[in-house]
Amino acid sequence: MDKEFRNLPSVDRLLSEERIRQLQQNYPHTLIVDFIRRYLQQVRLSIAASNPCPSVSEIAESICTQVRALASPTLRPVINATGVILHTNLGRAPLSQEAIAAMEAMAKGYCNLELDFDSRKRGSRNTHLEPVLCQLTGAEAALVVNNNASAVLLVLTALAKKKEVIVSRGQAVEIGDGFRIPDVMRQSGVKLIEVGTTNCTYITDYEQAINPRTAALMRVHSSNFRLMGFTHFVTLDELVTLGKHYELPVFDDLGSGSFLDTTRFGLDPAPMVPQSVAIGAGLVLFSGDKLMGGPQAGIIVGRKQLIDKLKKHPLARAVRIDKIRLAGLAATLIHYLKDEAVNKIPVWRMISASLEDIDRRARLWAQPLQGLARVVEGETMIGGGSLPGDTLPTRLVTVGEAEKRKHQNIAQTLSQRLCCQEIPVVGRISDNVLLLDPRSVFPEEDEVVLQALQRVTTDLQHT
Ligand SMILES: *Cc1c(COP(=O)(O)O)cnc(C)c1O
Repeated sequence: MDKEFRNLPSVDRLLSEERIRQLQQNYPHTLIVDFIRRYLQQVRLSIAASNPCPSVSEIAESICTQVRALASPTLRPVINATGVILHTNLGRAPLSQEAIAAMEAMAKGYCNLELDFDSRKRGSRNTHLEPVLCQLTGAEAALVVNNNASAVLLVLTALAKKKEVIVSRGQAVEIGDGFRIPDVMRQSGVKLIEVGTTNCTYITDYEQAINPRTAALMRVHSSNFRLMGFTHFVTLDELVTLGKHYELPVFDDLGSGSFLDTTRFGLDPAPMVPQSVAIGAGLVLFSGDKLMGGPQAGIIVGRKQLIDKLKKHPLARAVRIDKIRLAGLAATLIHYLKDEAVNKIPVWRMISASLEDIDRRARLWAQPLQGLARVVEGETMIGGGSLPGDTLPTRLVTVGEAEKRKHQNIAQTLSQRLCCQEIPVVGRISDNVLLLDPRSVFPEEDEVVLQALQRVTTDLQHT
């Protein structure tokens, strides 16, 4: 063991190694010394555990790899062939050209984020979005924050703290990744009053729970699950009528609120923001990056008197939106204003893409895979907690069906190799078959997908 310790190179010896000298042209000396020291410490422990000491060139090589890895961004673009259009793990909604251009312009320099040119005084960043949101939704006022989760937190904290909010037991749900409505309520200092049963809630259940401590009635869209069979839920109309009678506002958390009627595309109806406003919800909350198709944001529209209270609350500052996403959201909203959302916003372009086009692209993708692939009928999911269980017909490229029978996991292998490409191509694996859906991929990306498929197929044939 002592002999192995004597093989351990010094820091200086490593610094004079050719590879490390080259590394010093791009990275500061102190950073490299830091990595060398840490690496040598690891090697010492390894030797103490009776392992041999690696050679100087092996050590140098490992250090170079580590330094370069840390200095490379880990966040990278991928191609979403999963067939889930609003995939939270893949960053949800891709943005329109106009939104991207607006964000770039604001990122480059200064802007009038909070400057009122007329008065030359400090303005509010909210003025850049409020008029368009009011026009699109019919609401009196609007406020945009960091995301919908923070919108829920702000609304409850500012308007119901130390009071009670009544929610149907079937809507006290987890949205995903641990975001649970009951937890957010607790965090806001609000007492959640759950009424009804998991599958049935009636308006009388709400009415019986109302007392002087009640601050609001809340509806939460059951975004990511669906109850089947014997169920009953109270409509927004009923809630609003009850709220009016007792002078209580209704908060309507739509999650993936939409400005377009999804039934136009053969989908189940998604909750429409203007409809909730028209019915009389006091506040309507929804995400910027779900069916809206914009950047991450939480949008709150509704009665001015309530929005004014939100604007003044200290938490509003803590959850405010930044200038870049604000610019992207404004550009996205303008697409709806000009009635060009279906052609301009990628999410809607994907939803409205014709099956013939998708079929043609699926056949194109299947070509490099030769005998390994087949084009089959399948379904695209909207995702993002929107339209539970609702899907669009699509064509899928399935890979590895025949091999599955031979108990070779070719789907897993291919999927891994597709993820190792310079631009990773992410598909979905179902029952040991790899599925690739062209609907969630931009037609402009087809060439990259084809090249990736070509490479992995060639690799496979050589192994
Ligand atoms: C998605 C969702 C949220 C959270 O929205 P984020 O924008 O992800 O923060 C809250 N409520 C409902 C009903 C949702 O579907």
